[in-house]
Amino acid sequence: MFNKVLVANRGEIAVRIIRALKELGITSVAVFSEADEDSLHVQLADEAYYIGPAQAVKSYLNVPAIIEVAGKAGVDAIHPGYGFLSENPHFAAVCETWGIEFIGPNASSIERMGYKSMAREIMIKNEVPVIPGTEGSISNEEQALGKASEIGYPVLVKAAAGGGGRGIRIANTPDELKEALAAAKREAQSIFGNAEVYLEKFLENPRHIEFQVLADKQGNVIHLGERESSLQRRRQKILEEALSPAVSPELRDKMSQAAIKAAKAVNYTNAGTVEFLVDKHGNFYFIEMNTRIQVEHPATEMITGVDIVKEQIRIAAGQPLSYKQEDIKFNGWAIECRINAEDPEKNFMPSPGTITKCEFGLGSGVRVDSGIQTGSEIKPYYDSLVAKIVTWGKDREEAINRMQRVLSETKIEGVQTTIPLHQKILTNESFQNGDIHTRFLEDNILKS
Ligand code: ADP
Ligand code: ADP
Ligand code: MG
Repeated sequence: MFNKVLVANRGEIAVRIIRALKELGITSVAVFSEADEDSLHVQLADEAYYIGPAQAVKSYLNVPAIIEVAGKAGVDAIHPGYGFLSENPHFAAVCETWGIEFIGPNASSIERMGYKSMAREIMIKNEVPVIPGTEGSISNEEQALGKASEIGYPVLVKAAAGGGGRGIRIANTPDELKEALAAAKREAQSIFGNAEVYLEKFLENPRHIEFQVLADKQGNVIHLGERESSLQRRRQKILEEALSPAVSPELRDKMSQAAIKAAKAVNYTNAGTVEFLVDKHGNFYFIEMNTRIQVEHPATEMITGVDIVKEQIRIAAGQPLSYKQEDIKFNGWAIECRINAEDPEKNFMPSPGTITKCEFGLGSGVRVDSGIQTGSEIKPYYDSLVAKIVTWGKDREEAINRMQRVLSETKIEGVQTTIPLHQKILTNESFQNGDIHTRFLEDNILKS
């Protein structure tokens, strides 16, 4: 097992990983930017090193600075968390060169799944269903127009290197498609540094359902069931749950087998999530695989009892999975609310400032993964996700009622948060009936 691990991240996920390291008896090393000197992750780690100015490119994305700290501190491994360097194959390769274990899949798996058009090609070859569209990237306008008329409008133009809900454009007509292509390429180049785009048919009100998988270096691959992440705003997840009210045991069987097939197709190791869209007839289609720990992993942990981050560390250290598929049982239901420092009344504008009060509702069946405390400063440089509240219930209804109770007891003052939005969702009758889709928030809750 490792003696010392560097966490190349910040905020709630850095805190989450440091806690797992502590419980495993591994020395934890934090890194921080100028903006994060007093952050919770720095306070909790055994050691902490400055890596650069506030802007992420100069600190949390600064590969030489992070590798230098890893050498100085003498770490065995680096956990990248999510975002930042977590899906950067170059970084995984650099770690390998320096003899530092990257806690995630190898560079080649990251690369093949990270380019979403390449991932589509691999899935098609392996008979994992994908949404109708181009096989790989679009090479010219003519090809795109031809494919679109074949599959029918509306279509989406998606950035091959995209993520975080960005770099996706809809086109309803050939003229719109021409425009969307040019704009999507420009946008993809400027955000992701890669202009490649591909085409998918736009599915009308699908559900977003994803499978958590774990794979060790001995070739064992298991799944931990699904999460439903249909509640989104601008294609970014807001509230997630495990399991999904729309998945029957038969569908779970089929989808989990497809997820495992997807992972095996790229010789995947470590934790990963295979994302699907599902239509109202129960047809499911692969959209992408996230080759890292995901924001919403605690929901799965609550119903399976598996500590996914500890499994990631064990797998990276070369140990076989602690579980066989038949050991995985689903107990009850879990709901996660993402608490973002944003103002729902002002079009979700980021709401930086000093947290003057930070008290989370607690009690039976509650987990809080937070990067903030009273006195924390929310600065404008990073993602606005500051905490996640997760509730467990013996069934979905109890998890929902418990979340309402916990949110009503939670007091975060000094900045605006997305808590009022969650309160609206939780009291919505369609949500309570499990009747949701990826446009549900925008069409129902955010309009009213
Ligand atoms: P999850 O499925 O874990 O919810 P998200 O898509 O919300 O993943 O992304 C998690 C974090 O990673 C967010 O902070 C998001 O902004 C960031 N992220 C994801 N993909 C990329 C990418 N390709 N480039 C930059 N940031 C990304
Ligand atoms: P990202 O890499 O940004 O997470 P995804 O491919 O996972 O991008 O898609 C993000 C979200 O965008 C999905 O959860 C869904 O809401 C929407 N979306 C993506 N592809 C389609 C599609 N073909 N039809 C309808 N909605 C889609
Ligand atoms: Mg996605």
